[in-house]
Amino acid sequence: MQNTTIKNIVIVGGGTAGWMTATALATVLEGQYEIRVVESDEIGIVGVGEATIPMIQRFNQVVGIDENEFLRETQGTFKLAIEFVNWGKQGDRYMHGFGTIGQDFGSLRFDQYWQHMRKLGKADNLAAYSITRMMGKANKFMPARQDMPNSPLHQIAHAYHFDASLYARYLRKIAESRGAMRTEGKIVSVSQREADGFVDAIILENGDRIEGDLFIDCSGFRGLLIEQTLHTGYEDWSHWLPCDRAQAVPCESAPELLPYTRATAHRAGWQWRIPLQHRIGNGHVYCSQYVSDDEAASVLLSNLDGKPLADPRVIKFKTGMRNKTWNKNVVAIGLSSGFLEPLESTSIHLIQSAIARLIDFFPDQSFNAVDIAEYNRQSRFEYERIRDFVILHYKLNQRDDSDFWKACAAMPVPDSLQHKIDLFRASGRLLRVDNELFTEVAWLQVFEGQNLIPERLHPLVNLQTGADTMEYLDGVREVVQKCVAIMPGHAAYIAQHCKARS
Ligand code: FAD
Repeated sequence: MQNTTIKNIVIVGGGTAGWMTATALATVLEGQYEIRVVESDEIGIVGVGEATIPMIQRFNQVVGIDENEFLRETQGTFKLAIEFVNWGKQGDRYMHGFGTIGQDFGSLRFDQYWQHMRKLGKADNLAAYSITRMMGKANKFMPARQDMPNSPLHQIAHAYHFDASLYARYLRKIAESRGAMRTEGKIVSVSQREADGFVDAIILENGDRIEGDLFIDCSGFRGLLIEQTLHTGYEDWSHWLPCDRAQAVPCESAPELLPYTRATAHRAGWQWRIPLQHRIGNGHVYCSQYVSDDEAASVLLSNLDGKPLADPRVIKFKTGMRNKTWNKNVVAIGLSSGFLEPLESTSIHLIQSAIARLIDFFPDQSFNAVDIAEYNRQSRFEYERIRDFVILHYKLNQRDDSDFWKACAAMPVPDSLQHKIDLFRASGRLLRVDNELFTEVAWLQVFEGQNLIPERLHPLVNLQTGADTMEYLDGVREVVQKCVAIMPGHAAYIAQHCKARS
């Protein structure tokens, strides 16, 4: 039988996407394939992906990364939540905390009982029952206790903030130690097979030709192979997510090391604040139709905790996704596959899940069309569901202080999102389809935080007496408070376990 195994994998680009892919493939393929990363120092990387979601722990486990070493190497901190400021109305503040809230009680999920008592004016804010939100507020940290399944300590879910450039450097060391090779150089042209248009080689400025069977396009926004070579096309979602620029600037650290990202809404966009050990990462994501670059820079600079450590730099983007993220023998991973603004810190997760999917559908020389179609279907589903969750934050605003926010509140949204909003508004029901990324609890926190109150609730909430429900809710709140009280502070935990060397 003919051997149809592919041999050479070429990864175009050495940003977060390129080195995450190289590390994962070098680990999983156990040296059986040749893996080469081609990157250009002259072009550089985006290097602003600094906040993540808890699934990144899984990536680190699969590639065998020790958490403490990783945080030391990347000046990282822990992340338990995102705090949203000024999103519902100006002055509003709420958190989307990671992990679950409450435990089984009666025949329904926690949220229906909580909403019932909340409507009667008896229950506390949702935050009081969420361990990660209470830890965030108290500036505490400890990892989940896997040995205590019935405790809120088991519900702690954490992610990280880290310096993306240091992460890429750290991963490069690991990938190279497992056999991945690196070529420094600028790609100036791409060669395709005449018969079917498959990419067969890339050509560098110095004339070197690098051949491959499978090409992974991690070249960032330019999409060197997936778009510039294969003209795959891009679906533009900026009518739903109109922000099209960001300016990023690091600043000096603040005295308190917060274990959460902050997203503060401004006149026509929002600003992120990501605390690292050695500095704070900041950026203003905005809509250029409503705000000039100069005004955006001045808003950013006037909302920093400390002295800026550089000049703000402008990054332009168009929200959307590639029509196909796998086309012929090219798989686009990272910014080359699409872009969703970092409001829920999902880009690095999209890299990770694309890698997992690539491993699931790993090709041979036949590049089977059915497998590729399924890969593309799954990518699209994932992108669209995250897109809906991000749009929700814009749609559900009650701000009347700017044309931008009024336009967002009035815009029609995708049917899939409108359905979820309608369902929650009608009966407080939360829908999670096919294991999509964001859980019911995540949706609940945004609905509540941005003031959408259901008209009715599930009729079965009445099967429990009010007294029983309140006893249960009070119990959850009390245990959460007790757990948080005994935890170490976030800065103290880092100092003890994972302080960076400089
Ligand atoms: P890049 O970092 O752009 O890397 C591209 C690589 O391709 C580089 O190595 C470059 O040298 C190489 N290359 C390109 N052209 C050539 C060529 N001709 N020859 C040779 N090499 C070439 N994600 C999160 O998860 N959390 C966040 O908080 C977050 N914040 C973000 C904020 C902003 C404003 C933006 C724009 C993105 C953010 N992201 C975030 C996304 C995150 O930064 C990216 O997903 C991540 O950095 C991956 O980028 P990349 O590797 O695809 O591309």
